[in-house]
Amino acid sequence: MKRRVLVLFLCCVSGWGWPAALPAVEEHPAITRLTTRIQDEFGIRIIYREVPEEIHPAIVFSPPEPQDDGALVKYLILLQEELRRYPECFYQKIRLEAIVLVKRQFYDSRPLEGLYQRNTRIIVFDFLRNQEHVIKQRLNVHHELYHMFESQNGLAWRFRDWESMNVPGFAYHVPETLQPGGNPVNYFAPPVQGFVTYYAMKNQAEDRAEIFAALMIASQRRVVLRWIKNDPVLREKVNILRAEVIGLCPDMEGRL
Ligand SMILES: [Zn+2]
Repeated sequence: MKRRVLVLFLCCVSGWGWPAALPAVEEHPAITRLTTRIQDEFGIRIIYREVPEEIHPAIVFSPPEPQDDGALVKYLILLQEELRRYPECFYQKIRLEAIVLVKRQFYDSRPLEGLYQRNTRIIVFDFLRNQEHVIKQRLNVHHELYHMFESQNGLAWRFRDWESMNVPGFAYHVPETLQPGGNPVNYFAPPVQGFVTYYAMKNQAEDRAEIFAALMIASQRRVVLRWIKNDPVLREKVNILRAEVIGLCPDMEGRL
């Protein structure tokens, strides 16, 4: 009787831990190769089967499944390419522990492409979101990396006058409430001077992350550099942001 109880208990223990601990199928060799390479090259762990438990409870997502292997490989290649845009000092300053790859990520039922957790030093990306807009996926990598860079280095206080650069009367807000209209100086830009996207109008941290991300992608940087010729608000933001990033990591010069 005693032995039977013990056997049952052991079954429960192993059954409890099984789904997270054991991959359902043999690992795709390209996934293993890419995650190992990213870890060796940048010192960043890639987590995709055993998702950490400390992620905010309002955030829901699913781990990748075997049928997602192809998309996961594609995303890992993209991620590696974008991570290679940064010099060594950036990685020293960002102190990123791990990147977690998930799918169907939502925050309070809103789709969430990425998020960063300052305390655990992890970034979580939804690798399936925007598969048809690879440029968005690439921008998103830099957006979250910037948040981490800013938060790990207490950079926000250095931008304490950031808001005063905006056009008179502008207040950060949820972009969906924005009235339609045209940008007075750049036809394709968001309707308010000083912004590279609608999302940037949400708050000043998002504003900086959106500018930084755009500067890290050559095609987007060209657009921003064209816009700043006519838009003094955006020009000032770009100059200040660049100066602060390069001030902390001089090898970022020429990369953004
Ligand atoms: Zn953000």
